[in-house]
Amino acid sequence: MLTDKKISEFKKLILDERDRLLIELGYLSEPSLTDALNESSQGGNAYAYHMADQGTDAQEREKAYIFAARDNKYLSQLGDALERIEDGTYGVCSVCNKDIEENRLKAVLVAKQHIECKNKKGFEPEEKPSKK
Ligand SMILES: [Zn+2]
Repeated sequence: MLTDKKISEFKKLILDERDRLLIELGYLSEPSLTDALNESSQGGNAYAYHMADQGTDAQEREKAYIFAARDNKYLSQLGDALERIEDGTYGVCSVCNKDIEENRLKAVLVAKQHIECKNKKGFEPEEKPSKK
């Protein structure tokens, strides 16, 4: 069983992965990049620009995610994984209810089966009936 601490670690990894993907797909701008630019440049203009740029907050992020997830399977899988974290079912095999190996979760954040069940099936049946 994953401890709360582990769960929050995985949650952070999943959120980071989601952001990375959104940035890669062009739905989000790279925040650390603009921050670094603003910090290296001096003067009031940079500050004003910086303030205007703060619109990319959690809400924007959420909107970008919902939009992008319609087209990107991995993104929606990451969303599912976050739901499972909220449900308390993250890291539990959906087939046999055993714990999924932590190393496996690290390698595949969206894994739903532990390695034996996955191998038995021979593929990752991540597809599930779409729910809105
Ligand atoms: Zn299993």
